[in-house]
Amino acid sequence: MVELFLIHPILFYAFLDVSSWAYKKNLPIIVTNVLDKQKDSETDSHPQGRAIDISVIHWPDRSIREADNYFDAKYGKIAAISGKTGKPNFFVYHKTKKEGSKWHIHLQINAKYRKWD
Ligand SMILES: [Zn+2]
Repeated sequence: MVELFLIHPILFYAFLDVSSWAYKKNLPIIVTNVLDKQKDSETDSHPQGRAIDISVIHWPDRSIREADNYFDAKYGKIAAISGKTGKPNFFVYHKTKKEGSKWHIHLQINAKYRKWD
């Protein structure tokens, strides 16, 4: 997945950290989207290289919650601001409204790190 090298280096670093965490727990990292804008997305975080999606297939709920708490605390300073809460949110576990969308992990960094407009 060559697109992976087009994301912001800060996101790439944090993504590798999440990958390393998952590897130690035997959880697969399957990247499902890098640069494609989701149809109902309100931001351009993906096309701007500020977000990456990971499948949660074979991730138990407990591990998703643990990763969510751990990485939100760790990367709060570089996180994108949630449109819903107005607070930094790096690790987002969600499902978009797009038909066929599956629950997944969306990692996102702040808009100040945008690479392209
Ligand atoms: Zn996403």
